Amino acid sequence: MIPLLVPDLPSVHDILPWLKQIDENRWYSNYGPLCQEFEHEITGLLKRENPNSVNSFSMVSTCSGTTALEVALSAYRFRPGTKVLLPSLTFPATATAVIRSGLIPVLVDVDPNSWILTPEIAEQALIKSGAKVVIPVAAYGCKINEELWQLFAEKNNCRVLIDAAGAFPSQTPRQKVDICYSFHATKSLGIGEGGGIVSVDNLYLDICRDITNFGFSNGTIHTAGMNAKLSEYHAAIGLAQIARFNEIKLKRQALYATFRSKLEFLSDKIQFQNADIPKLPTLFVIKLGQNAKDLAHKLHDYGITTRQWYCPALHNHQAFKSYVKNLSLKYGSLINSQILSEQLLGLPFHPFLSNTDIDYMCSSLAKALVENSQSSRAMTTVA
Ligand SMILES: *Cc1c(COP(=O)(O)O)cnc(C)c1O
Repeated sequence: MIPLLVPDLPSVHDILPWLKQIDENRWYSNYGPLCQEFEHEITGLLKRENPNSVNSFSMVSTCSGTTALEVALSAYRFRPGTKVLLPSLTFPATATAVIRSGLIPVLVDVDPNSWILTPEIAEQALIKSGAKVVIPVAAYGCKINEELWQLFAEKNNCRVLIDAAGAFPSQTPRQKVDICYSFHATKSLGIGEGGGIVSVDNLYLDICRDITNFGFSNGTIHTAGMNAKLSEYHAAIGLAQIARFNEIKLKRQALYATFRSKLEFLSDKIQFQNADIPKLPTLFVIKLGQNAKDLAHKLHDYGITTRQWYCPALHNHQAFKSYVKNLSLKYGSLINSQILSEQLLGLPFHPFLSNTDIDYMCSSLAKALVENSQSSRAMTTVA
């Protein structure tokens, strides 16, 4: 079987020099020297990779992308029950973070071509619902336009938090636009588990920092926080991983470009996301003109693992249904999220794929698409 995803983390050999520093420091968590260096290095990397970004911002690290979202939302200190807009086509953690922060998720639709929540879609829902925060999701690692969201936040007097969990290092913050990243093993810069909140607002980041550390501020609890700190061990892996960043980036970019160009011959049968492509691609998702389930089975028979990422859409999960009934449908249909969640299919994508693997996947996909259209035509005839 060609696996869907193979994490690419630094070897023990690469991590060892950093672990030796931990031995010397005898400091294991609570923002030790490696964690501070990791935060500093990540910020520098984001600035180098995004030369047009605003030049002053920093990161507070967390123990996962999900806790980064929870901490970032809690640190806005909105009243419990404040509404938050988010797309129905996303990973469930975007919504669980909202609920666990005492806020109310309002699910809205995505654009059928870019597969993301746009300011145009958000505006009507924001006005009608009175939401104070919007969480656009950098779906499948694509890059979202932060400038447009900054204008949106100014115009509508709200905060924007980009869930860029899978999009490192494409997004940088603006005055009213904050960013959450994940460093999970399966994401673009994997360190095992980890995350970060990136913002230009230092006072806001101080609150985030306190919330990751139980809520302590000068020895007493100001906000009920949690323990979301990144350990020194994860920071060690992070520092070893940053040293490999350019190598990882070039490999993934080359592979992505090859895969895309080799699939051109199927462009009448499959579509790609019409958005800025990731700086560091980690997923490879295509849109079919039909439900992806049958094709996934056929590809499995060819020895190719696939995944229907973000399927089902959030409005079909038990935990979020009550919010849909009470709120979301009032603010527009979720039809694009519904269709995309059924028709998108993630193909294997990782740096260990060979050109032979890619050729095999392309020809198998072409065969499976023909078989699929034949069997669906046969069914139509019978019916
Ligand atoms: C991966 C992911 C998360 C969760 O990040 P973790 O580090 O696994 O907690 C949240 N949102 C999106 C869009 C993701 O892809």
